[in-house]
Amino acid sequence: MSAYRANPTFACLRCGETLGGGDDPPARTSSPIPTLANQGAHTCPRGCGEWMPRGVLEKLHADADVGTTQPAWQQRTAQVPCRVCGEQMEARKWGGAGFESCKDHGIWVDAAARREIQALLAVHVEQERRIGELMRELAEPGGPRALAIRLLALERRIDKLVGELGALEARVAITERR
Ligand SMILES: [Zn+2]
Ligand SMILES: [Zn+2]
Repeated sequence: MSAYRANPTFACLRCGETLGGGDDPPARTSSPIPTLANQGAHTCPRGCGEWMPRGVLEKLHADADVGTTQPAWQQRTAQVPCRVCGEQMEARKWGGAGFESCKDHGIWVDAAARREIQALLAVHVEQERRIGELMRELAEPGGPRALAIRLLALERRIDKLVGELGALEARVAITERR
């Protein structure tokens, strides 16, 4: 294990090349696909993928346990050791994108999964931002009551929409029987 810790620079999980990005300026790339590098990920200069250290994930209010464990039949048999601690990484899935995870050190995202993980992270960050806003509203005097009123109004709107949807489905059923 110490051999891994002795070298603090991150290496590519696939080709072993030293990764760029992170605290350094983001690696220049000709790819039009937005990279995770501008969020602090370390990018393989050969384009294999990106490493997001745990600290970067935490800044985005995420962790290496995002998504779900891949089912056993999709777990690869090859050894994929974490470049920081040398422990076998876990194959995980977030949406339709697979990635490698060491819960202590971060996640590895292959280039093919980069776009989807980037999109999922953007949604996640926005959701966390909204949760933060609501928590601050709740902390204000009268906040819980104001939020309860909004929730009730939302419930009424949903009831109304469900009613309208039911009526629409009934009309479609009648049309189809003709
Ligand atoms: Zn590489
Ligand atoms: Zn690790």
